[in-house]
Amino acid sequence: MKIAYTVKEVREQVKIWRKEGLTVGLVPTMGYLHEGHASLMKKAVEQNDKVVASVFLNPMQFGPTEDLESYPRDFEQDCKLCDSIGVDMVFHPEPEEMYAPDFCTCVDMDVLSKTLCGKSRPIHFRGVCTVVTKLFNIVTPDRAYFGQKDAQQLAIIRRMVRDLNMDIEIVGCPIIREEDGLAKSSRNTYLNEEERQAALVLSKAIFLGQKMVEDGERDAATVKKAMIELIEAEPLAKIDYVEVVDGLSMQPVDTYTEPTLTAMAVYIGKTRLIDNFIFE
Ligand code: AMP
Repeated sequence: MKIAYTVKEVREQVKIWRKEGLTVGLVPTMGYLHEGHASLMKKAVEQNDKVVASVFLNPMQFGPTEDLESYPRDFEQDCKLCDSIGVDMVFHPEPEEMYAPDFCTCVDMDVLSKTLCGKSRPIHFRGVCTVVTKLFNIVTPDRAYFGQKDAQQLAIIRRMVRDLNMDIEIVGCPIIREEDGLAKSSRNTYLNEEERQAALVLSKAIFLGQKMVEDGERDAATVKKAMIELIEAEPLAKIDYVEVVDGLSMQPVDTYTEPTLTAMAVYIGKTRLIDNFIFE
């Protein structure tokens, strides 16, 4: 497996693959990889001749008071995992390689990026859209892989690709969970033992909402209320949002019609966790 630190190295390698007529898949990540990331990479290896995984902790998508500095890192372990799955190249640039000191061009999105996580993280999706566009331009993949875990991000990337005519197939991958239900996340490492237990309210609320909808409930307020009550019963949990939105526009809806996204962000102590389910 090749490790590339510069844009030039990636371009040269991809050019060789293209000359051989090979297809290329891209899996963008921020590192500290777990089985959630692994599921994306495995799918990419299945569907493409060559796979690039990027490991880049993108400063542009973190707000000034967010966890950029404390975000967990273990590049050596990440490389081992990528190699074991059959990833062909890991792209691991320094921030200076991606952002020139006078960098001033961004990809911004209206509507979809203003709700849910966009409310409490107002610059987040501008950072995501910009870095993903850059990665698309650097790697020029046929397909790119994103997790349903970050459902709003996936919807935004799909919209960006459509709106800006990017010739890339976006492949969404299901949420991978721990055995007890907690959605796998690099940020789970922030949780102490007590918080780890308390964090189960997220998946419990998701499973409760999902069951209500499966059993025929279609009123968004009723589902939301039940989920919020369950979360509020946990003293360590503080709700950022629990919302029911249209699966494409990310705008609130009153009734479940397909596709509808039920999404939440909840603080467990200082750690902000997200989870969701989609009705389609
Ligand atoms: P991150 O490193 O957090 O930026 O995540 C990189 C990619 O992995 C994103 O597309 C995420 O949605 C995806 N991902 C993270 N956690 C999971 C999970 N538990 N299940 C599925 N995909 C995930």
